[in-house]
Amino acid sequence: MRLSRYFLPVLRETPAEAQIASHRLMLRAGMIKQQQAGIYSWLPLGFRVLKNIERIVHEEQQRAGHIPLLMPTLQPAELWRESGRYDAYGPEMLRIRDRQDRDMLFGPTNEEMITDIFRSHVSSYKDLPLTLYHIQWKFRDEMRPRFGVMRGREFLMKDGYNFDVTKEDALHAYNRHMVSYLRTYERMGLTAIPMRADSGPIGGDDTHEFLVLAETGESEVFYDDRVTNRELGKRDIDYDDRAQVAAVCEEFTQLYARTDETHDSGIWEAEVPEEHRKVGRGIEVGQIFYFGTKYSEPMGATVQTADGATVPVHMGSHGIGVSRLVGAIIEASHDDRGIIWPEGVTPFHCGIVNLRQGDAETDAACEALYRDLQGKGLDPLYDDRDARAGEKFATMDLIGLPWRITVGPRGLKEGKVELTSRRTGDSEELTPAQAVERVA
Ligand code: ATP
Ligand code: MG
Ligand code: MG
Ligand code: MG
Repeated sequence: MRLSRYFLPVLRETPAEAQIASHRLMLRAGMIKQQQAGIYSWLPLGFRVLKNIERIVHEEQQRAGHIPLLMPTLQPAELWRESGRYDAYGPEMLRIRDRQDRDMLFGPTNEEMITDIFRSHVSSYKDLPLTLYHIQWKFRDEMRPRFGVMRGREFLMKDGYNFDVTKEDALHAYNRHMVSYLRTYERMGLTAIPMRADSGPIGGDDTHEFLVLAETGESEVFYDDRVTNRELGKRDIDYDDRAQVAAVCEEFTQLYARTDETHDSGIWEAEVPEEHRKVGRGIEVGQIFYFGTKYSEPMGATVQTADGATVPVHMGSHGIGVSRLVGAIIEASHDDRGIIWPEGVTPFHCGIVNLRQGDAETDAACEALYRDLQGKGLDPLYDDRDARAGEKFATMDLIGLPWRITVGPRGLKEGKVELTSRRTGDSEELTPAQAVERVA
């Protein structure tokens, strides 16, 4: 992409309404525009990051054997009356009436609808196990929308639902989700710690939240600081291997880590050596639940078992805050000059800064770099504007691409360009070909 033809409305001023770094930086970097409280347009740069996050979520869900579909944002009130949640959900639910006077709602989550799909088409144990998921906009009329996309009213969520014959099978689905989530967050450059949580209005017994540690997080967290060293890394996971998947979950959850909702000072003091006790704050970027037959029973989602009995299916639901993650990643990875994107989600792989736009030789070198990077399947952002070097550097620092290649007449005399890492700030003089190799 050539910056001269792109739409990147960066702000020079720090927006007064933004209280935390990620919100400030997303506004300044021209990633989002607020349209109403908690409702945002995703401008091109923000949209690219959102799409990258979605792609990683899709890839990891499908790797775990989960199947994508797409349910609508608008749901009939009828389904929610069946589960008993229509009245119970309260003012967070946006209720709408159509011209036929039918009650509808903008979905805050999809347990009822997915259960309806399931009961319409599945009736035998032979069709299980089954996990369906989608990535779709949700609406929750939050009391205090704030921190930009972190607590929006309209927000993008991945929500997945497992259907199993037995509790044991459903707990395997739970574990599979935990492991796939760990891998998902790691690919985004995040450490997200599974913490025992409270089930809230969705209801259920087993539930973990995934928290990214950050001072600006809304949850208070209590943990053994050794949990922050856990890493899944590149190890091979066979998602059908129950013992292996359960062992990974055990490894990541054996040390104490809880939110304030479930924190138990007795266990904390008995189990965690004093020097490892940490109290901090975290951002909830996902949550998994096992809730058994809470929806299948009232809504009649049953299957026939091998011996002919009819049983309600065991279910769970599992969510990732896709749009919240954009903010969470920035909270975890920025400095006072701007964002520092992890490679996995960066909107462009690298930036090219032309120090002397209009100088024939410099322009030609930049064009060649641009083509060569594209030839490697990379997506560079070429700052070809007629602007001062200082302004170009400030823009690149603000939008946080992992690499910057700076091209100017002085370096080119020696056949060199400068490659700079956004994260470390280290620069190297390289030939253009070497720079392309290094970035690829
Ligand atoms: P919170 O405690 O932050 O209100 P939640 O527990 O109500 O979140 P869940 O029902 O568990 O949310 O939804 C799954 C995920 O969706 C959450 O883990 C979070 O990452 C994301 N999410 C929830 N509410 C919002 C929101 N208002 N804006 C952006 N993301 C959200
Ligand atoms: Mg909530
Ligand atoms: Mg919560
Ligand atoms: Mg939650």
